[in-house]
Amino acid sequence: MSGAQQSFKILWGMAIDLDKCTGCGACMVACQAENNLAPEKDASNKRRVMNWLKVYELSNGKAFPDHDTAFLPRPCQQCGNPACVPVCPATVTKKDEEGGIVSQVYPRCFGCRYCMAACPYKARYFNWYDPEWPQGWDKTLSPDVSVRPRGVVEKCTFCHHRWMKAKDKARVAGNDPYDLPEGAYVTACTESCPNGAIVFGDLNNPKHLVHKLAHSEYAFRLLERLGMDPQVYYLSRREWVRRLGDHHLDNEKTGDFTPLGGGHHG
Ligand code: SF4
Ligand code: SF4
Repeated sequence: MSGAQQSFKILWGMAIDLDKCTGCGACMVACQAENNLAPEKDASNKRRVMNWLKVYELSNGKAFPDHDTAFLPRPCQQCGNPACVPVCPATVTKKDEEGGIVSQVYPRCFGCRYCMAACPYKARYFNWYDPEWPQGWDKTLSPDVSVRPRGVVEKCTFCHHRWMKAKDKARVAGNDPYDLPEGAYVTACTESCPNGAIVFGDLNNPKHLVHKLAHSEYAFRLLERLGMDPQVYYLSRREWVRRLGDHHLDNEKTGDFTPLGGGHHG
């Protein structure tokens, strides 16, 4: 992890095991429901479809019988050096020093979409339409998450509202809200994965499993070479998956490469 990340006391993060993910999409559905994403008006236009968390299919590109696939769930990476933050002319988005989550203040956003252009992970989405739910569905909306209007950009928040609730619960119980036990705050996608592929917790807390997984020899981060310093780690025992995560090409010389954001993890 970089120095920037370690300067925060708490660093919420994820470790997603791609060898456990079957691509079922339960995490995507849980995210849509938890964060009040309305059904698509025109799902045929993929550029306008909203998925705060999107599952991509990867392939090793080989023919049968050597063919292999993997599925890669991609939430916002909550970058340590978020490219989306400095480009915003309206200071809508910032790196929160409490937990390192990259926030988005919807009423302040005027929809220029600079942040979307800057994000190398394509983790930001523009509201092309006002949200509309089929009759009765509005009763299933989550009361803890604001609904976004047409014309603003939105993104995964690591279910920030769940952290607010976990802190309140700790305060009521007389406990330290900044020393939550593992599992007191997890994201909806973590909870929904039937295979336990998504582990969530404090990357800075050695007692949390996510801390251990992030230091695994099988851990990697997406496009590590860009130096974005993501708080989302991926794991795979398959080398081709790890290489694909950083877009290494087969004939590329990688031996003397040092990522901009510093070392890998450690
Ligand atoms: S679209 Fe909104 S959040 Fe993104 S850069 Fe423009 S004003 Fe800022
Ligand atoms: S993944 Fe994209 S939207 Fe998320 S913090 Fe990084 S640059 Fe910003």
